[in-house]
Amino acid sequence: MNGFYENGDFFLKYRNEKLFNDKNSVEECMKHFDKDGDQALDLNEFEQLLKSLFSFSGNAYFMQKPRIKTMFNYFDQNKDHKIQLDELKNFWSKIVKRTLLPKSALIIVDVQNDFIDGTLTLKKCPAKQNGAEVVPVINNLLEAVPFDTIVYSLDWHPADHCSFIENLHLRKLDQNSPIKENIKILDSVIFEGYPLVEQRLWPAHCIQDTYGAELHANLKRISEKTDPLGRSVIYVYKGSKSEIDSYSAFYDNCRLNETTLNADLKNNGITDIYVCGLAADVCVAATSFDGLELDYRVIFIDDATRGVDLEDIDNQKKRLVKNGALVVNSKDVNNMVTCRDRKPELGYATFLSLISSKNNQEN
Ligand SMILES: [Zn+2]
Repeated sequence: MNGFYENGDFFLKYRNEKLFNDKNSVEECMKHFDKDGDQALDLNEFEQLLKSLFSFSGNAYFMQKPRIKTMFNYFDQNKDHKIQLDELKNFWSKIVKRTLLPKSALIIVDVQNDFIDGTLTLKKCPAKQNGAEVVPVINNLLEAVPFDTIVYSLDWHPADHCSFIENLHLRKLDQNSPIKENIKILDSVIFEGYPLVEQRLWPAHCIQDTYGAELHANLKRISEKTDPLGRSVIYVYKGSKSEIDSYSAFYDNCRLNETTLNADLKNNGITDIYVCGLAADVCVAATSFDGLELDYRVIFIDDATRGVDLEDIDNQKKRLVKNGALVVNSKDVNNMVTCRDRKPELGYATFLSLISSKNNQEN
């Protein structure tokens, strides 16, 4: 069926780790793209290689010329305007590898009763969205896509948590608090004491071991023991300290504490994280930004999220894209995880993180 396209896709067979690492693979790549037979790739030949690498079922994506040139110049280490075999080997191990052999995790953020029908239902937030709508979308992904790892994060607060408007009387406001009276839900205040940080106020929600904190009943739970695809499963509980809130599944809002998520993902060799769930402009966005900073390739699954405020959702998505994340629709995900669909934006993000980590090493 799609064999017609796949036959034209030089790189497809190298999604296999053994073939990828075969000692002849880079020579074969050179032979395939070196049209004038001079044992090296000039800029045009390199461009053809990139178009073949960043394609969907054999159809090349548009790539910006300056980006092609920047990558060419970087890998042309001896500056002779050609990519020789040893230079291609470097490209193969740094860029092609992450493109063809990514390891992907799905991070399902806070699909919990309180955000759907409970005390902090998104239906009553400014965007008036229905959080339950993400459940079938995420279930489809869980059924169809061979992720390596599945992560369920849960907002998991003690009853005296600092983010609850009901708990305002428990703490003194700092003199620098932007608001000191007539405080309403969604306002931000600063409490006296450590840490000195703006805290947005929400109705009490996701209190540990209550119904509101449970994952939505219809959300599919993958079990490591019985999963036919053999995926790892990680649960992350966040916001469990009274004095500090935690939007991201990686860190609390002051970066004082880290969850085990980054260590667990790195341990599983994860390179790409697909982020979805609730709420788009709060915890899903925060998790995505931290993922970028921790050097993952970040894919935000737009139709598998719902949020608090339309303008905030839009701004956060724009900021994410600006910082190298990709916003996609859930229908794209399977082809991306299985590398039939190889998006140039992610390839360029890989390149940029390679350059920045090199700069860090040199500094
Ligand atoms: Zn919370």
